[in-house]
Amino acid sequence: MRLFRWLLGMLVSVGFGGLYLPAAEPRLRVLVSLPALYSWASQVGGDRVQVDRLLPVEADPHLFQFRPRDLEVLRHTDVILLSGAGLEDWLKASLEKQLPGSGRKIVEMATGYPQSELIYSEGAEDSGSSKDMPAVPNGPPNPHLWLDPIFACHGVTNILRTFQLLAPDSSAVFATNASVYIQQLLRLHEDYEAFRRPLKAPAMVTAHPAFPYLCQRYRIRLVGVLEETAGTEPGPRHLATLMGQIRANHISTLFVEPHSTSRLALQLARDMKLTVAELDTLETGYWSAAGYEEGMRSNLRTLTKQLQEQP
Ligand SMILES: [Zn+2]
Repeated sequence: MRLFRWLLGMLVSVGFGGLYLPAAEPRLRVLVSLPALYSWASQVGGDRVQVDRLLPVEADPHLFQFRPRDLEVLRHTDVILLSGAGLEDWLKASLEKQLPGSGRKIVEMATGYPQSELIYSEGAEDSGSSKDMPAVPNGPPNPHLWLDPIFACHGVTNILRTFQLLAPDSSAVFATNASVYIQQLLRLHEDYEAFRRPLKAPAMVTAHPAFPYLCQRYRIRLVGVLEETAGTEPGPRHLATLMGQIRANHISTLFVEPHSTSRLALQLARDMKLTVAELDTLETGYWSAAGYEEGMRSNLRTLTKQLQEQP
């Protein structure tokens, strides 16, 4: 494509292709760590930016090891957008070591977000799981902020400021794009509120502690989490506590994630006669401008179906 554009540009410049003006080269080159950020940056940037993934499609942002061969791409990148709140700290350290000075190109979505909104205990807030694994007072916050549409508006605003600073000529275009997209995100938020309103005391149990911000925003009690740390099977004590919470709260659904349902989750669901439903954490897949909203709306449909059936 790049070669094609170059050829087309050449033809235009030597006078053969006056009717076929080449598309302007994107002014900003942006790398993002998560599919959500890909959507936000694409929406704000429109055709004035080129957004690419920092990590391969199926990489787990909690575990991925940075590859030296990507450094060349990074050298030509204008800005690197990260979610922040500790999620990509390993990545920042690795980048700075391998490409000194690259830290200056990093902008985090969580920058400027009120500290009081951050959740420090992984998973359930008011559950017995804290007896098993007390929240570390000085530990990192739960990083899954992007699963809250109001945080998304904050992230989009950070992206807008960043793009305006780097490409002031396109400032007005970015502002219009961001404003249209924030309206869309606020409608998404309204639709979540509309789902929440008729529910008396919704409660849920998830496989991975990815949804505390969504639960906090929409006043859903997160009564327990199967794996306190993604990919780490819980001990028998935690499991017994969780089963007690599921019974006490009349939980009828176990929310798992697409492509990562553990054998233990299925076993638990079978033993306790729970419906298994999928909620996407939007950490993998959905790399498209519309992907964030589509993923969040798909989660909303799942929540509506599962939580409205509770007694
Ligand atoms: Zn996660």
